[in-house]
Amino acid sequence: MRVFLASIPMDGARVVIIGDGEAALAKLRLFGKTPADLIWFAPNGAPVGASALQGGPAPIQHLPVAADLSGARLVFIAVEDEAVCHDLAALARAAGAQVNVVDKPALSDFHTPALIDRDEVVIGVATGGSAPILARDVRSRIEAVLPAGLTEVAKLARSLRDTVIASVPDFMARRRFWEKAFRGPAADLAASGRTAEARREMLRLLNAASEIETGPEQGLVHIVGAGPGDPELLTLKALRVLQDADVIIHDKLVPEAILDRARRDAHRLYVGKSRSDHSVPQDQIEALMIAEARKGQRVVRLKGGDPFVFGRGGEELEAMRKAGVPVFVVPGITAAIGCAASAGIPLTHRDHAQSVTFVTAQEKPGGTAPDWQRLAGPNQTLAVYMGAGRAAETAASLIEAGRDPQTPVAIVENGSRPDERVINGVLADLGAMVARASLTGPALLFVGECAAFSAAQLDVRAEAAA
Ligand code: SAH
Repeated sequence: MRVFLASIPMDGARVVIIGDGEAALAKLRLFGKTPADLIWFAPNGAPVGASALQGGPAPIQHLPVAADLSGARLVFIAVEDEAVCHDLAALARAAGAQVNVVDKPALSDFHTPALIDRDEVVIGVATGGSAPILARDVRSRIEAVLPAGLTEVAKLARSLRDTVIASVPDFMARRRFWEKAFRGPAADLAASGRTAEARREMLRLLNAASEIETGPEQGLVHIVGAGPGDPELLTLKALRVLQDADVIIHDKLVPEAILDRARRDAHRLYVGKSRSDHSVPQDQIEALMIAEARKGQRVVRLKGGDPFVFGRGGEELEAMRKAGVPVFVVPGITAAIGCAASAGIPLTHRDHAQSVTFVTAQEKPGGTAPDWQRLAGPNQTLAVYMGAGRAAETAASLIEAGRDPQTPVAIVENGSRPDERVINGVLADLGAMVARASLTGPALLFVGECAAFSAAQLDVRAEAAA
């Protein structure tokens, strides 16, 4: 974090704007919408046509002297002459103000972020002056997803704030109350302008919240699929529960970039597993999920891909049910789907594959062996999970069962992540390909005609680049 965004209460804050050009007018318009005590110095008076300033302060027609700036909180200097800027900035700082020299970040104590002003809710996007256009772009994207009635919801919340503190003194319980309130019908009512009904609904929730305060509150568990690694492949639901979680129990397949989307004060518990290092056994993970939920926490059990595809999500679901812990499952994009998309491998194809099979090469000790005959059939795509360690054996079994040794294959390592690698070849060579690749990340093996499409795509890219 190269810059820190703070918010300054504008109630009665003295804000001084110096200048008579467009930049000064823009600041006047901006602060004209706040309850600040706004003072404007414009040596040449208001420019003609400055009609947008109706109701704003009258210009004081000289540059300020020291006494004019006393008590100023923020001073904006929008004056051309750099020497004058310097002098005014020194004067303002001597008065204890924070200074912004418009368009001159080097002379400024603070920069103005790209702002979304929804009255009660203000969102700022800052790049420390290094990429203002990017900040504007991000701002537009945020604007697009903000619910329209945000201000009304925030106003209602503010009007009830003290009441809520008095009736729900416990911090955690209060946070849960607000979360429920903002997501329930009260928020919808407020946003659609039905203020009285919204208020009644909030008070109803509040009564309920203060009644169940005796005894620890019931927690719950969401078993959530995090997708193959790219944070943008989280579902909206996954993102929402992640941002609501008090505790996040995650494993190795979930990258930092996804954990970063969680609430910053959420408790993170790593129960990572890889074939060689079983850091926390499955039954202990389940016991942990139950224990945290029973403490009243909102637990997210975050798993790579989809929880129900080679994710032991079924076992965890069952354990929660047995323990009487409320449990929900949020699906995720499984590795086969994510890798196929980013490598350009269609899983089915009118000409080449009428079915796709997700299969694992890791057998449970003493479990049933894969049906190689079926897996070796033509016109199908195999997506082999956890297959790198047994690639040579898998290929041999498929060939023995009748699959053509020249069948295209692809290895996708770290699919959908910045360090993704795609390696193409044929089935007979699969074991050697894996050995040569020295894989370090998770890898998925594709077997079938469709696997060749990723190579074709690479050729096209290479041609385009040449
Ligand atoms: N539940 C997960 C699978 C867990 S099993 C899912 O639905 O995707 C772990 C295996 O998934 C790895 O051995 C690898 O074969 C595959 N895998 C998971 N993420 C991957 C990724 N980003 N790229 C390639 N393979 C991945």
